[in-house]
Amino acid sequence: MTFHLDKALVRKHMKTLLIGELAPHEPSFERSKNKLLVEDFRELRSTVKKLGLMKSNHLFFFLLLLHTLLIEVAGWFVLWYFGTSINTFLISTVLLTIAQSQANYLQHDFGHVSVFNNPKWNHIVQEFVMCHLKALSANWWQRHHNQHHANIRT
Ligand SMILES: [Zn+2]
Repeated sequence: MTFHLDKALVRKHMKTLLIGELAPHEPSFERSKNKLLVEDFRELRSTVKKLGLMKSNHLFFFLLLLHTLLIEVAGWFVLWYFGTSINTFLISTVLLTIAQSQANYLQHDFGHVSVFNNPKWNHIVQEFVMCHLKALSANWWQRHHNQHHANIRT
């Protein structure tokens, strides 16, 4: 629910994982967990949701994309304008490394479909960042990252 804002889409995929229903008298949490902690967590989650803290800020993501693009351009500009020397190479390397790191975090959020309510828009931006800024396959990342999250509990 944190990473996928489209609840209908989440429910659609969660249906295949449904293995049974709890009886009304059964607790809706693992028996080995502390009931008070579970209730506190649920109350905290409800409060966070009411305060709107889980809503994505589109301006933040737009500025992060712009910032990443500007750092990328600056990295190449240093080489183009000042020529190739050890100093310009090092400065360019630092700028491009920062841009690549920022692009990776940025595409991760879009890859998790956590920015826009419409998954299609998330995938379009993720593909732009992955394919054009990182020169990697968004589909490759999606497939492997979904497996990573599916296996994260093991
Ligand atoms: Zn992830």
